Amino acid sequence: MRKRYGDNLWDLLRILAAGAWSILVGLYITGINLIRPGVCERYPRRDHRPDYQPRPGYRGDFALLSDPERPGGLRCIACLQCQNICPDQCIHITPEGKGKDRHPVQFRIDTGLCQFCWLCVEVCPVAAITMTPDYETATDQPQKLIRDLDTLRERGRNIPEPQRVEPVGCVADGGA
Ligand code: SF4
Ligand code: SF4
Repeated sequence: MRKRYGDNLWDLLRILAAGAWSILVGLYITGINLIRPGVCERYPRRDHRPDYQPRPGYRGDFALLSDPERPGGLRCIACLQCQNICPDQCIHITPEGKGKDRHPVQFRIDTGLCQFCWLCVEVCPVAAITMTPDYETATDQPQKLIRDLDTLRERGRNIPEPQRVEPVGCVADGGA
């Protein structure tokens, strides 16, 4: 019958030593993590700084950018490309007008369905839509997650250009 812990005393000692070493390594890693500074923002309960800003490129909410050549107007030409590319079908646009006069009369984004993939921003031919670093968006009322044309226009009023996409990765941005 095959022995469970090796064929001889030497095998048993080797297995015990390997087990002890792995416990020591685990304890060492645990100890290091106990004393090193944290990298997480313990939001909203502790350490939350009122001036906290997510790192550049954070995708929190949406905005439609203004057209500097048409006061009160939007850059959006209602081409529907963002609506068509959205994998979650959370963008709904009602266009009006033809040619240079084409514009949205309704623009609705259901951020509750959104997976924040950035495709709508990427596909826009006139850089009319962007995502913003707003992160205080949690609510227990789904209808409050819907952004309409006026909300999107207001959010984009002071945004000169769509924000840049930062490389995805784990960044310790000093949030602890
Ligand atoms: S970020 Fe992605 S899922 Fe969200 S609205 Fe844009 S295309 Fe749709
Ligand atoms: S935001 Fe851009 S992609 Fe979407 S309808 Fe307007 S112009 Fe087209």
